[in-house]
Amino acid sequence: MRRAIFPGSFDPLTLGHHDIILRGITLFDELVIAIGKNAEKKYMFSLEQRMRFITDAFKGESKIKVLTYEGLTVDFCKKIEASFILRGLRNPADFEFEKAIAHTNRSLSEIETVFLLTSSGKSFISSSIVRDVIRNGGDYKGLVPDSVRII
Ligand code: ADP
Repeated sequence: MRRAIFPGSFDPLTLGHHDIILRGITLFDELVIAIGKNAEKKYMFSLEQRMRFITDAFKGESKIKVLTYEGLTVDFCKKIEASFILRGLRNPADFEFEKAIAHTNRSLSEIETVFLLTSSGKSFISSSIVRDVIRNGGDYKGLVPDSVRII
């Protein structure tokens, strides 16, 4: 069983994440979307909301699971027997950041990080931009899946 995790904050899920997830599941038998819980981070959306956005977006996709975790990503991988970490790359800044994390994770474990390049047209999308648009009353709907709706 080739199990991978796609870790992140997903505050909220965006069309950028959605694209990486749909392309990522073609590579693995199971993809666990792993929502990191960090007590020091301030989130716009609660853990329950972030989880619901994801489960609603992928209902019917039997290869996709959603879990939460705390602590080191590699420890969580070992716990659920995942051998791969999936990450998305948007730009050189992502590459530099991800490179350091992937090297660190590799020094701590055997877990391989697999990168997918963002689809053209989605590289500008980030959760922080979506939060800014929402905060300022803009139309965020073109940046997120339909499951992300703020009433
Ligand atoms: P983090 O809290 O780790 O920054 P995010 O929820 O922002 O988590 O992102 C999780 C993953 O999704 C990261 O690998 C990030 O590079 C990727 N990602 C985010 N937005 C996009 C996008 N527009 N295109 C491709 N990958 C993306």
